Amino acid sequence: MPETPPASPQQILQQIWGYPDFRGMQQPVIEHVVGGGDALVLMPTGGGKSLCFQIPALLRPGMGVVISPLIALMQDQVAALHELGLRAAFLNSSLDAASARQVQAQARAGELDLLYMAPERLLSESGQRLLEQCRLALFAIDEAHCVSQWGHDFRPEYGQLEILRERWPDIPRIALTATADIPTRREIAQRLLRDDARSFVASFDRPNIRYRVVEKRDGRAQLAQFIRDEHDGDCGVVYALSRSSVEQVAEHLAAQGIRALPYHAGLSAETRARHLRRFLDEDGVVMVATIAFGMGIDKPDVRFVAHLDMPRSIEGYFQETGRAGRDGLAAQAWMTYGLADVVQQRRLIEMGDADEAHKRLSSAKLDAMLALAEAADCRRVRLLGYFGEASEPCGNCDNCLQPPELVDASEAAQKLLSTVYRCRQASGTNFAATHIIDVLRGRNSDKVQRFGHQRLSTFGIGADWSEQDWRVLLRQLVAQHLLEVDSMHYNVLRLTDGSKQVLRGERRVRLRRQAPAPARRRRAGSASTAAQPGIALAGADAALFESLRAWRADIARDHGVPAYVVFPDATLRAIAQARPLDLQQLRSISGVGDKKRDTYGPALVRLIAQHA
Ligand code: ADP
Ligand code: ZN
Repeated sequence: MPETPPASPQQILQQIWGYPDFRGMQQPVIEHVVGGGDALVLMPTGGGKSLCFQIPALLRPGMGVVISPLIALMQDQVAALHELGLRAAFLNSSLDAASARQVQAQARAGELDLLYMAPERLLSESGQRLLEQCRLALFAIDEAHCVSQWGHDFRPEYGQLEILRERWPDIPRIALTATADIPTRREIAQRLLRDDARSFVASFDRPNIRYRVVEKRDGRAQLAQFIRDEHDGDCGVVYALSRSSVEQVAEHLAAQGIRALPYHAGLSAETRARHLRRFLDEDGVVMVATIAFGMGIDKPDVRFVAHLDMPRSIEGYFQETGRAGRDGLAAQAWMTYGLADVVQQRRLIEMGDADEAHKRLSSAKLDAMLALAEAADCRRVRLLGYFGEASEPCGNCDNCLQPPELVDASEAAQKLLSTVYRCRQASGTNFAATHIIDVLRGRNSDKVQRFGHQRLSTFGIGADWSEQDWRVLLRQLVAQHLLEVDSMHYNVLRLTDGSKQVLRGERRVRLRRQAPAPARRRRAGSASTAAQPGIALAGADAALFESLRAWRADIARDHGVPAYVVFPDATLRAIAQARPLDLQQLRSISGVGDKKRDTYGPALVRLIAQHA
């Protein structure tokens, strides 16, 4: 912290962070906490929660204590603060005794602006004693939803943080999270905050993320093509359901020259840590992972999140896709989805050992996710609507950009369902999709012959549709419960009550036809995000941007910090476009504060001059 403390939050933001303006709710939150109030802050990932406690910690006398369950990330968070010239440290189990003693001494001497602590450390006898001896500015409780017993990330130590209220009633507390439904919010407030705490709930919209869902044909090949065509050299995360599929996909991508690494709970802790480090530190690594990889991935420049398998709920989808584009630059959430996803997820629910009520809940969540995947209207409107937020069509999802055709497919659905019905009637058993489609299309397969199904009245009535067309219809029927796949029994198709309504003409079926894929945008060179619509960098700027990234990689290696800690992509892009010629011009760029201007300015200005 500089010797003469700046007077206002705005000044601190500009001097230290080099950002011109606050975002969204940052300013009111900061003012409330500086004034000594308690706050619950709900902001989506990338919303800028950190500043909400970092700036008040600087403005209030004493040290800000930040409680986070993600000890693997504390080191990077503290390194980022050091890069800004702030006095920060962390205390967690990764620290040896001597270093811990040193941090404690600094804290006692009032030499720290911010101290990050693991919850178990704070709750320990020595942790409590230390804090008693320090002057405290505030407590910030990150990932505050972890206090909720009902949530999916419950941490028992978090439950014990109630002690803060009792022991330090006068020190303001700010609880922050990106995921909390109404009951969880109430629980956070009850356990951690004063009764008069204020809630700050930001919109959950992530306008820079483009949502896309594509029909799955060969998922792996589609994924490789998506990365090559649209995210060459970009950092991304690919989610797959099983460990074996994670391994295979990572290998497949690596074989195509993409820097892909696997991450799942079956790998040794050492391998996982190594892969995480590379993902964080290097540019352009694609992490292929199960959902074990996720919470607290702070990397701001993840340009895409791809799902090879459909998540089982919209909450999960939103949380996972939310890891893209925290820096506010264009990013994509891309998912392939097919009939097998529906069947597999339903099966997982049925086979699980949860009780009936829980299974019903899981089914309802899955159906909402399916409806999102099958939607023909704006995906963002649906996503936000799910979280209770009303919005207008966004113009930045696949359905807005290329509205799919909605055709009335009631007649085709009747053909399909009556074929299922007649095959069963003729042979006393149910058949799987391939056979049903053969009958519809009038294919004389061995099996058709064997069962004499060429004599059925529906034989060949669907010859005008391709096999793929029929599969698309089939998937949509299954997604809407108008037909069932028996995954325990050779995936045979079975009629449901809904099928009967369609057969009797009481219910119409509308089919979503995906518009043909757009002509592919090949990138010029390897200029990473440069080729993304709306934020394209011109050729020369793209070349400078790549040089700046290479420079940043060297610095990051030297300093032993992740590249984004030196400068985020957004700042490098702005530098590449503005080409500042001196330190003053450089300082006017968003993300260049006083300290970074002094540390890196001369080298940057030289580099830019060389490019002129
Ligand atoms: P969260 O914790 O809510 O996911 P962060 O605090 O990590 O988000 O902020 C996300 C990114 O946005 C960071 O790179 C941060 O530096 C940047 N950021 C935060 N506030 C601002 C601002 N007012 N102007 C520009 N960039 C900001
Ligand atoms: Zn949209």
